Amino acid sequence: MSRFWSDIVRRLVPYVPGEQPALAKPVKLNTNENPYAPSPRVLDAIRAELGEHGESLRRYPDPLAKGLRAAVAAHHGIRADQVFVGNGSDEVLAHAFQALLKHEKPILFPDITYSFYPTYARLYDVEYRTVPLDEQFAIRVDDYLAANAPNGGVIFPNPNAPTGHALPLAEVERLVAGNPDSVVIVDEAYVDFGAQSAIALIDRYPNLLVVHTTSKSRSLAGMRVGFAFGHADLIDALNRVKDSFNSYPLDRLAQAAATAAYEDADWLASTSARVIASRERLTAALAAVGFNVVPSAANFVFATHPAHDAAAISAKLREQEIFVRHFNAPRVNQHLRISIGTDAECDTLVAALKGIVG
Ligand SMILES: *Cc1c(COP(=O)(O)O)cnc(C)c1O
Repeated sequence: MSRFWSDIVRRLVPYVPGEQPALAKPVKLNTNENPYAPSPRVLDAIRAELGEHGESLRRYPDPLAKGLRAAVAAHHGIRADQVFVGNGSDEVLAHAFQALLKHEKPILFPDITYSFYPTYARLYDVEYRTVPLDEQFAIRVDDYLAANAPNGGVIFPNPNAPTGHALPLAEVERLVAGNPDSVVIVDEAYVDFGAQSAIALIDRYPNLLVVHTTSKSRSLAGMRVGFAFGHADLIDALNRVKDSFNSYPLDRLAQAAATAAYEDADWLASTSARVIASRERLTAALAAVGFNVVPSAANFVFATHPAHDAAAISAKLREQEIFVRHFNAPRVNQHLRISIGTDAECDTLVAALKGIVG
């Protein structure tokens, strides 16, 4: 705290990202990164963009990321004017809070969800109200309908984080249709691991914004590329904020890498299938040592042990250089969120857990 700080900085509660340990070979299952490399085409595209002497780097990148937006629009069967690109979906979400969720009435999001939402709400002074998930950690759509809960907007991840629970598309549609006067943002960071995308609905609902990232299923967390899909008026709002903040949020290498990743749908399908198979295998192994595991449609599982404290388990794993995520928050402080690694990493984890929980 300093006397030079603004009021807003004093009030901020920054998001705390998962640890990036400086170890040679940690078993890193704490930030939902992909265990597999990106498509080989990504590397080729980065090399081609650099050229022999890196001469392209002298020039600013395309501020509109036209090539990338065209590739992503083609992949999803939509128009490029329905696509917004940002520096990671976190930046896309930040712009959406400022551009589309700041109104008189409070916005709604689940009590257990991505912890960046309350952080952005405070940063942009957006009123919010959290809505409890049910006992199975599912979103109850009725709790979000404008008729029952007047609101200035709704945001939730599907599948939800950190629970991994997915809402069927028909339920997402009921929520969007039940809020014709406010924007509903569906954050689909994990959709490729087992949920149905709401992109199919954007032509019919002008209040729907769907957010995606290349960080999880496309193995590009290090490149920082995220998207929003929606009616051109919503995309226009995001572009107005972007062009009042940073005209060049995506560098040349990120644009080239993400374009190549979207052009290799086979790579996405095969690596996602491997992660899903490992998730089912890890879920069974955790159950065998006594954990209760929430059924997951994501690249992580959310698990609790009836006889052992979650924070203590996490600390003991850490001593063995195995990293999982523990949230010290109400309702979930006895759970661990475990990212799906390779089968070998999952086996190392399970062996360590056997030693800890007996
Ligand atoms: C990981 C994650 C993001 C952020 O992704 P980036 O594109 O890496 O910024 C957004 N929303 C949820 C729910 C996530 O888990």
